[in-house]
Order: sequence, then C-alpha cells, then structure tokens
Amino acid sequence: MTAVGVIGLGNMGRGMALRLASTAHRIAGYDVSREARQQIAAEGIVVVETLAALSARSDLLILSLPNAEIVEAVMKGVDGVLAHARPGTLIVDTTTSYPATTKEVAALAKGKGLAFIDAPVSGGPKGAHAGTMTMVIGGEAADIARAEPILEAISAKRVHVGPVGAGHVAKLVNNLLCASHLLTAAEALAIIRGAGLDPAQVLAGVNAGSGRSGVTEINLPNWVLNGAFNSGFSIGLMRKDVGLATRLVEELGLDLPMATVVAGIWEEAFTRLGASTDFNAITAHPDFASSPFHQRGRA
Ligand code: NAD
Repeated sequence: MTAVGVIGLGNMGRGMALRLASTAHRIAGYDVSREARQQIAAEGIVVVETLAALSARSDLLILSLPNAEIVEAVMKGVDGVLAHARPGTLIVDTTTSYPATTKEVAALAKGKGLAFIDAPVSGGPKGAHAGTMTMVIGGEAADIARAEPILEAISAKRVHVGPVGAGHVAKLVNNLLCASHLLTAAEALAIIRGAGLDPAQVLAGVNAGSGRSGVTEINLPNWVLNGAFNSGFSIGLMRKDVGLATRLVEELGLDLPMATVVAGIWEEAFTRLGASTDFNAITAHPDFASSPFHQRGRA
C-alpha cells in the first residue's frame, strides 16, 4: 500500500488527507502550524512531527502549501523533501504555485532520483473533502500514471496539460479568467439591477446564451445571489493568483492590458475588503474605480 504524506494541512490539505483516509489509503500529515497538526490529529489522521520524518517515510508526498516560496523552502530546506525523501518518491504539488519555481524544484528532484508532477486543483475545501476536485496536471505520463490511484481518490476530473510546470500555467490562466469574469459579472449585475430586473431571471437567459461563464453558472447562484459568500476561497488567494499570472505575463515579455486592469482591481479589492473576505464579494463593487483601466482611459 502506498504511504502518502500530506504537507500543509490547511483548508485544502486537510480535506485531501481526510478524503484519502476515508478511501483506505495509508496517510500521514505534517504542517508547520501546531494548531493545524492538533486539529487533524483529533480527526484521526497520523501526524508526523517533522517535515524530514514525513519525507523519509512516504512513497508519495502531496504538497498543499500557501505559495511558491514556501514550496521552494519545503523542498530545498535542510529539513526538507530533497534532503530526506527516499529515491523513487513521487511528489505531487497541488499548491497554486509559480511555473518557474515548479520547473526548478522538479529538476532538483529528478537529480535526486525523485519524481515531481504539478497538479493544482480547483473545487475549494468542499471539493477536497469530497474528492471531487478538478486537477490540471503537468509532468511525465509515467509519473502521472503512477500517481493515478491517489489522484483518482481526491479528484473527479484530471487533465494532463503538458510537461512539468504546465499545470501551474493552466491554473494561473484559469484563475485569471475567473477573476476577470467576476468583474464583468459585477458590471452585468449592476446593469440588471439598474434596469429594475430580477438577476436570477435575467441570468437564466444569459446562461442559455454565449455570455455565460463559470461565474454566471456557478458563482452567482451558489454564493452571490443568495447572499451566502461562503465559497471557502478568499480575496487574498485570488489576489495572489492574479499576481502570479501578471508575473508570468511579464516573464514572457507580453503586454496584456486586460490582465493589468484585472490585477489593479483585485489589488483594490484586497485593500478595501481585506484578505479573508470571500472572493465573490467583489461582485458587489462594480465601482472599484482606481483601476489602471480608468487611468488608461483618461490618459
Ligand atoms: P491554507 O492557508 O488554509 O493552508 C496552507 C497550510 O500550509 C497552512 O495550514 C499552513 O500552516 C501550512 N504551511 C505553511 N508553511 C508551511 C511549511 N513550511 N511546512 C508545512 N506546512 C506549512 O491554504 P489553502 O486554502 O489550503 O490553500 C492551499 C493551496 O491551494 C494554495 O496554494 C491555494 O492557492 C490553493 N487553492 C486553494 C483553494 C481554496 O479554495 N482554499 C482552491 C484551490 C487552490
């Protein structure tokens, strides 16, 4: 039986660990936060006290960490995965990370006889817990095939999008599109309400037409129109992802005005609404006006 170790037991990692435990996989976890370790231990998951010990005892490691810098530290640190994992260990990075970091740590892993795939996820903490996430995966086909029994337990849909790092490119493109669609949906809602119409009724028409998006079909009915705003994904995380997407745009030497506009508005949302506010709350602010778009428009 594959010994699986989950590194990072937050909203997503905790859900994945619990899901894997419920599907009879041998599972253990580590988190830098004592609170996270205690919480999941109380839920019956084996907690290992150091990263080095978890790395050494696992056949497959799942990373679910806040960002690329932390992935780098967890991989390269003296106590980390590269120093302590056994040759043959397969690392699955589900973090929304940065493609260049992914390629670098994957190459280092390969040099140590380890395998690395990037498999960022969507579906939120509920999807992690239920095993219904979607994964976009970068890596070699043989490594992905080896991970399949574990990936299959935590996700409902998996798409192999290219070599290592491609999963993180796909994830950043996806989230940039979602972040953009939320802003256009905010303006659409303002128009519908301004016209004195019922948003749910008008959106039923939009969703039958070519203007529909994941936001109009999923976010608006589930988290916005009912006032719930409890998706489990925050403005802070979306701002991070949009920031990574614009960093990639710069790295590629592209000039993409829409990406710049969207990033400016999410910065403003972060400042005015706070990091922990549900990301869908931006739909209540179609008037966020200090965006670069307005400045460009006036120039
Ligand atoms: P989170 O902040 O809830 O969890 C991250 C965990 O990593 C925390 O428990 C933290 O203590 C731990 N951690 C930090 N540094 C560590 C270290 N050096 N060693 C071990 N553990 C460490 O974040 P999350 O919501 O679970 O998201 C995890 C990743 O998944 C992020 O990259 C996020 O962008 C991505 N993601 C999140 C969602 C969502 O809806 N929350 C959806 C899709 C993707």
